[in-house]
Amino acid sequence: MMDDCLFCKIAKGEIPAKIVHRSGDVIAIEDVNPQAPVHLLVMPVEHYDTLFGVVSAGQESALVHRLIEVASTLGEQRGSGGYRLVVNTGDEGGQTVGHVHIHVLAGRRMTWPPG
Ligand code: 5GP
Ligand code: ZN
Repeated sequence: MMDDCLFCKIAKGEIPAKIVHRSGDVIAIEDVNPQAPVHLLVMPVEHYDTLFGVVSAGQESALVHRLIEVASTLGEQRGSGGYRLVVNTGDEGGQTVGHVHIHVLAGRRMTWPPG
């Protein structure tokens, strides 16, 4: 738990969020500022800054699997003909919350390249 981390507080229930999935070490919430009709955030309950932080911690391949499992399953369930998983990483990567999360975007046609 990082004391000043927004998503740690959400994971602990200290800040409310619409939780759509919770299974042990992983939660998924609705994004407060959705960029598509479906916009979910899948994250570990435990704090890691980035995906690289998870893999660098060692012995965490199960957690990486679980994050991708939950994100892709939600995409399959809530998308209708496709979905997009996004992990913004670092300042230039567009990450604004420093607790790793996978965006699950669906419900509209996505464009490429992303901005
Ligand atoms: P990032 O910019 O780090 O890739 O994604 C952070 C996401 O968290 C953004 O899409 C933003 O809308 C969302 N977000 C920021 N604050 C909150 C909050 O308090 N509650 C929820 N549910 N989402 C948030
Ligand atoms: Zn955190």
